[in-house]
Formats: sequence, C-alpha cells, structure tokens
Amino acid sequence: MLRRIEIVLGWAKSLWRAFWPRRPSSPRPAPNQPYVPRPRIRVAHWRGTGSAPPGHWNACHPSTEHIFKAELTCPRGHRLTLKGHSISEAGEVQPSVVCRHPGCDFHEFVVLDNWAQRRAVLPAMPH
Ligand SMILES: [Zn+2]
Repeated sequence: MLRRIEIVLGWAKSLWRAFWPRRPSSPRPAPNQPYVPRPRIRVAHWRGTGSAPPGHWNACHPSTEHIFKAELTCPRGHRLTLKGHSISEAGEVQPSVVCRHPGCDFHEFVVLDNWAQRRAVLPAMPH
C-alpha cells in the first residue's frame, strides 16, 4: 500500500515538472526588451538671426517658450518645434525627436547645447 502511494507521488512529481520546468538560475533577458535609447546627439545652439541651419537649434522668444520651447532644424534642413517635448536644465530633450517631414528618417535623442545659457543671447526684455 505504502509502495503504491510512493509510485503515485513519483508520477505526480514528474508530471508537475513536465508542466513547470525548472527556471534557469540566471534570469535571461526578456525577448521583448524595452527600447534602448541610442546615445544622445548634441545639437549646436544657433545664435544668428533667422532660421537655424541643419543640425542646430534656436531658442523661442521667452513669451512663447512655454509653448514651443525651442526650434530645431534636422540634419536635412526641416524645421521642427519641440512643442510636445520636455527639456531638462541640461538641455536633454524627452522623448526622442522625430522629424515629421515625409521621407525624412531623422529620429534621435538629442541634447541642446548651451540650453541653460539660452537667455543670455536673447535681447534684453524691456521692464
Ligand atoms: Zn527632417
């Protein structure tokens, strides 16, 4: 009788193992890894007048900065506003910047060079 219980238990155990195979001791990376951002590219600050040349950004006027934040020209010369982005004090833009121009594949994580000093280059506001 006892022997029969042992056999049944052994069978149950092997059945259990068949359904729940032992996990490997070291966790393997999940197949669906979260998107790993590429290193940020630095975008130079355009201090001249008019539109920024390709690969540069320029600050919006302080009165519209809270809406448009900054403008950026993608390396192919398309104008983008960072309206939907947040920009840290270090100039890191979140999320990544995607050029919406048809046929343009510009999609990068960017850092705006000189972002913290953007006000210094703007003409002084009248008080
Ligand atoms: Zn573009």
